[in-house]
Amino acid sequence: MKTILIVEDDETIRTGLKYFLEKENFQVIEASTCKEALLKVSNSINLLLLDLGLPDGDGFLLFQKIMEKKKIPTIFLTAVDEEVSIVRGLDMGADDYITKPFKVRELLSRINNVLRRYQRSQEDNIIHLHNLTIDLNGARVRKNNEDVFLTALEYKILLILGLNPNKVFTREQILADIWDTNEAFVNDNTLTVYIKRIREKIEDDPNHPKIILTVRGLGYKVSDQSEKVTD
Ligand code: CA
Repeated sequence: MKTILIVEDDETIRTGLKYFLEKENFQVIEASTCKEALLKVSNSINLLLLDLGLPDGDGFLLFQKIMEKKKIPTIFLTAVDEEVSIVRGLDMGADDYITKPFKVRELLSRINNVLRRYQRSQEDNIIHLHNLTIDLNGARVRKNNEDVFLTALEYKILLILGLNPNKVFTREQILADIWDTNEAFVNDNTLTVYIKRIREKIEDDPNHPKIILTVRGLGYKVSDQSEKVTD
């Protein structure tokens, strides 16, 4: 269930929206001032409906403050005379706006569009390799949905390979990439050790790896599908 935070000081609009959105299976949290909104914004909010004219401040500033903490998909609720300034809001990163008075059905379709778009952009940042996912949004690696803890360097090596599945990287290429960003001294031998450590963390059977494959005489590649393992 998705959670929407409505920030709107007009009680009729706010309670009307809450009633409608709850019937559409959203969880709704209400705020009527900037201050209240800042208290109620949290990681569990999936979307923000934000009135621009609030009694204790400018909706744009509130939007900026919230986005500094966390990027949340946002639709502005605007009055007609605020429409000219909406470009500013969209430039600041709001996803959409709707002018009052509006039809709730139209708002609903915009909400669903924004959520779908956001979901897609999040998924674009996730690499799937067998039972492993690498979430680039949070540099988070999960195996069978459980966190795998890699060191920064291990993550970097996995990423070099994982961003280009099935492409063979020579040991020299990997070393050169690491060299750019890491001060740790990594040579040919230590690279072998690092690959071994990563395999111990991500492979079901590190002795018969299925994700990071050794390409004999060349280097390594990551396989994004099940295939015969030569290692
Ligand atoms: Ca208002």
